[in-house]
Amino acid sequence: MQKLNKIYEGKAKILYTTENPDLLIQYFKDDATAFNAQKKGVIDQKGIINNKIATKVFEFLKTRGIVTHFEQFLNDREMLIKKVEIVPIEVIIRNRAAGSLCRILGLPEGMTLKCPVLEFCYKKDELGDPLINESHILALGLATEQEIKTITQMTLTINGLLKEFFAKINIELIDFKIELGRYKGSIILADEISPDTCRLWEIGTGNKLDKDRFRRDMGQIEEAYQEVLRRVSQ
Ligand code: C5P
Repeated sequence: MQKLNKIYEGKAKILYTTENPDLLIQYFKDDATAFNAQKKGVIDQKGIINNKIATKVFEFLKTRGIVTHFEQFLNDREMLIKKVEIVPIEVIIRNRAAGSLCRILGLPEGMTLKCPVLEFCYKKDELGDPLINESHILALGLATEQEIKTITQMTLTINGLLKEFFAKINIELIDFKIELGRYKGSIILADEISPDTCRLWEIGTGNKLDKDRFRRDMGQIEEAYQEVLRRVSQ
């Protein structure tokens, strides 16, 4: 499949058109950003590792009936995906308190939650992706009531599946962010699922195997990402 025109470049990925109008090529970069791009850096090999991890995750979810934009692994840094219209909402699920939830509510990191917390953020870099609720989504026309229902149900299902997927390789899924897209009348899973978009703690040691290592200058970032890839490839 030939890459034609670059149509989008984000912080971690580039999208190219192909000769098929329904399909795009998603290219994974090594660039890393945090805190709404105030912190910038490069994680060696990250694009290659995340492309491979996201492929494994999308392939797993497909076997469990989740429709995603993933079509095919092409090469180290590229996957073929369906062209979707991205819903301008980032959906976050939390199984334990960490990151911004601790900051906003003053909770200790790692606190057990009585049930998963579902959050919506408005996908708008210039505003720092603010937290919004269902009524904001409806008032701004970001998604319909039915779409919000579908997105909520899908996200909870994906959370259950991914918790089990990672637990099998001795990793606890603390939280993650997903993006969804409209494709031929349905809502499907888009973007990526990787250590950039999830908090992943090794069971037993609590060792962080995700982007918090970059956010907090903890070192051994590439090693942590490689370790996740090694385990999901087992
Ligand atoms: O920073 P916060 O605690 O809100 O992040 C929750 C989860 O969503 C983390 O796993 C983080 O990596 C992910 N996230 C993301 N992209 C964003 C914001 C959060 O992947 N723009």
